[in-house]
Amino acid sequence: MLRIMEIIKSKDPDQQEFHQAVSEILESIKPVMDQHPEYRKANILERLVEPERVIMFRVPWVDDGGDVMVNRGFRIEMNSSIGPYKGGLRFHPSVTLGILKFLAFEQVFKNALTTLPMGGGKGGSDFDPKGKSDEEVMRFCQSFMAELFRHIGANTDIPAGDIGVGAREIGFLFGMYKKLSNEFTGVLTGKSLNWGGSLIRPEATGYGAVYFAAEMLGTLDQTLEEKICLVSGAGNVAQYTIEKILDLNGKVVTFSDSSGYIFDEYGLDHSKLEYLKILKNIKRGRVEEYAAKYSSAIYTPVDPDADFNPLWDHMADCAFPCATQNEINAKDAQNLVKNKIMAVTEGANMPTEPQGIEIIIDNGLLFGPGKAANAGGVSVSGLEMSQNSMRLAWPREEVDNRLKIIMKNIHSTCLEAADQYGKSGNYVDGANIAGFIKVVNAMLDQGVI
Ligand code: NDP
Repeated sequence: MLRIMEIIKSKDPDQQEFHQAVSEILESIKPVMDQHPEYRKANILERLVEPERVIMFRVPWVDDGGDVMVNRGFRIEMNSSIGPYKGGLRFHPSVTLGILKFLAFEQVFKNALTTLPMGGGKGGSDFDPKGKSDEEVMRFCQSFMAELFRHIGANTDIPAGDIGVGAREIGFLFGMYKKLSNEFTGVLTGKSLNWGGSLIRPEATGYGAVYFAAEMLGTLDQTLEEKICLVSGAGNVAQYTIEKILDLNGKVVTFSDSSGYIFDEYGLDHSKLEYLKILKNIKRGRVEEYAAKYSSAIYTPVDPDADFNPLWDHMADCAFPCATQNEINAKDAQNLVKNKIMAVTEGANMPTEPQGIEIIIDNGLLFGPGKAANAGGVSVSGLEMSQNSMRLAWPREEVDNRLKIIMKNIHSTCLEAADQYGKSGNYVDGANIAGFIKVVNAMLDQGVI
């Protein structure tokens, strides 16, 4: 195991997030490796950490002022042992090869947990859609797809949305794909409903995370009713996490964006949430504006020098990090413990730093890792692919019921895998072990390729 860490660090010393993701998996799967000498013999770990293919390309586009801009585009095709590559596209200035490799690596295990036949991939660009006009975003998406289209396909690699890639971007990307390939296929998920999208896809990651949290609380004979919840983020995942918590009669008192966070002691209701959706999805505004509209809300801007995030320092029952990676550090985790949080459910990918996870688990809080808890999004993407292949559209209840069943199954799979390898109650190890075994067994079956 140490050898694998040395290999990836010496090959790519700057990819810290990737090292972090790999190190977590290696830690979890130690007992599995001890019981399966055939994995070592096949050098399965060294194969697993190397992407099957990395595509990196120039994305030139013209801004509204007539100036030529250049961004960098990526697609990491990480592992296709259980199905075509599947995973989102992220448009954010922080995007690098290392970030996307960590996300693609996580995606492989997450997709395996869904029980659907999907391999893992991830892609994106350091382009920042924030502050750009719709026309600029369209020109960027068209240029991005002018290269990406030759690498993807409904049976090869099926991208979706992620940070900075929502319905608008998926529309522009799909339009260009269709023009270049001259075919209308389910090559992207997260499409609009009237041209091939699935009901519940926009809601799926957030709803799924809340279903997962409800399952975890169920092990303590608890529900989300009247539970006070801290949510971070204000994008797709955060909005639908808040919506489902409200549906289940929980109380949400926080949300955030990259500029700061809101604490609303009276809690959100459906009409306040509607305001937030319009503010973020249509006006593309900042959460600060919420405090100007609702006097019960207090806005706190991000303090770049602070060594903790005050959003996590409120008395509450449940926490749902739904913004981005590494947003809960050790100090934040200590605050969560101090503030009597019972359950932390990761809506975002890898939002908790390793030391933070250790503190949370050691103090007996329930901890649902993103790999399992936020798998609802890709699960419904898988259902969108099935509907596209069948040229069918399932009703809302059917998709939602399937999502609920998938999240329930992921929850029990994690617990069973953890039990089997002596890590009872540890969802991190359970998710890593269950995903790992499924993927590496498929790799062994398919030979050295
Ligand atoms: P969105 O772009 O819709 O929203 C992201 C939110 O997080 C925004 O409020 C954004 O603020 C905030 N944010 C982004 N970067 C930072 C940062 N560095 N510091 C503080 N806040 C930040 O993305 P999603 O909601 O789709 O994704 C959120 C997380 O969930 C990501 O980790 C993503 O990988 C993960 N995820 C998403 C899935 C999906 O289906 N969409 C599926 C599974 C996981 P601002 O408005 O200022 O940019």
